[in-house]
Amino acid sequence: MSRSQDILARLRRLEGGGLRTFAEDPPLVWEKAAGCHVEDADGRRYLDLYGGFAVGAIGYGHPRVVEAIRFQAAELMHCPSAHPSRVRAEFYEALAGIAPTGLDRFLPAVTGAMANEMAILLARAWRPEGAIVSFAGSYFGRSMGTVGFAGKARYREALGIPAGGPFAPFPYPLRHGAAATDLAMEKLEGLATDGRQPIAAVILEPIQGNGGVVIPPADFLPRLRRFCDSQGALLILDEIQSGCGRTGRLWAVEHSGVTPDLMTVGKGIGGGLAVAAVMGRAEAMRWRPDSYTSTFLTNNLNLAAAVAAIGVLREEQLAGRAAAIGPAGLARFKGSLAGVEGVREVRGLGLWYAAELADASWAARAVRLARERGVIVGRSGYDDNVVKLSPALVIPEAELHAGIDIVAGAIRESRENG
Ligand code: PLP
Repeated sequence: MSRSQDILARLRRLEGGGLRTFAEDPPLVWEKAAGCHVEDADGRRYLDLYGGFAVGAIGYGHPRVVEAIRFQAAELMHCPSAHPSRVRAEFYEALAGIAPTGLDRFLPAVTGAMANEMAILLARAWRPEGAIVSFAGSYFGRSMGTVGFAGKARYREALGIPAGGPFAPFPYPLRHGAAATDLAMEKLEGLATDGRQPIAAVILEPIQGNGGVVIPPADFLPRLRRFCDSQGALLILDEIQSGCGRTGRLWAVEHSGVTPDLMTVGKGIGGGLAVAAVMGRAEAMRWRPDSYTSTFLTNNLNLAAAVAAIGVLREEQLAGRAAAIGPAGLARFKGSLAGVEGVREVRGLGLWYAAELADASWAARAVRLARERGVIVGRSGYDDNVVKLSPALVIPEAELHAGIDIVAGAIRESRENG
């Protein structure tokens, strides 16, 4: 029995149901990670083009983050949210240095779901009688307070949570064509005028991640901003996956010129540790003192890692790097899949790519074959039929291209009867 098999057997014996561990069997057992590489428990090295679900924005184990963690571990790790600390001030200052213009208040969180729950709770405080509208294909986390807004019904049904509010279609050019934005706006206008409930907030990802890198038309966010203003509703953007430089700007919303009222960030912001945050306008953060806390909310080890990671993001100009090397990678990916029957679309922005395939089982086979050939990618999409790439922004260009060739080859060769 290999080390990986031994570890899997131990997990199978003890792990409760419901996690993703064995959803695609056998899972890859991680042992080490550095930069954009992962090593499994049997010593096999992989090029990770998925970044651990987009966490590895600055690469795994960045020396500056490791050093910050070492230092902070010896100074102060646990620090209750009731007790301010220098590190917390530094964390807010670091966020202020990267926040979109107009967002100048910050609340810490531990996970993306927690940050979204906080934003949703703030929206409830904003207009207690109002509805919170989300979109088909959205993903905000799997906690009780967020999964109700998941655009994929199966995520809600698995946990027995009803829809948290009404849903609008997310503008999806491949599916909706030129009418994409109108379709979404018509639904929103209908909700605003049906006399049922005022709208407290609209929550969405500016580019859908779990939905499969769905990029709405350029007019969507400006029109949505105007709609929210006309309703006095908050515009909440979830940049947990689309942020931290992924799309070639620090935040995907920066491509649109729009300023949200609240914005949630997570994943890459912690440099590998569990950190998330809500950014916002002061008026949208109307909570009385002691409305919210959690024991590990301001864990100083995590926040120190985030301060270092944000420093790396800025100083290494990683958003600019995604903008600089992203398009050639996308062109290569598109070129390798051009004319392949059943490849519906290859799309992306910055260092975020998706190949939408005819069906989910093909995408699953492609992900598996790429892994056998030493490259990690992920699968997402409304119907789980999208092969998705979200590599570390520090990836050397030659490795990116070599990896893309392997992934495209795996897609071509895993096509049924292909
Ligand atoms: N929002 C988006 C857009 C995400 O992609 C994710 C996670 O994949 C979340 C929220 C949930 O974050 P977490 O898993 O840290 O709770």
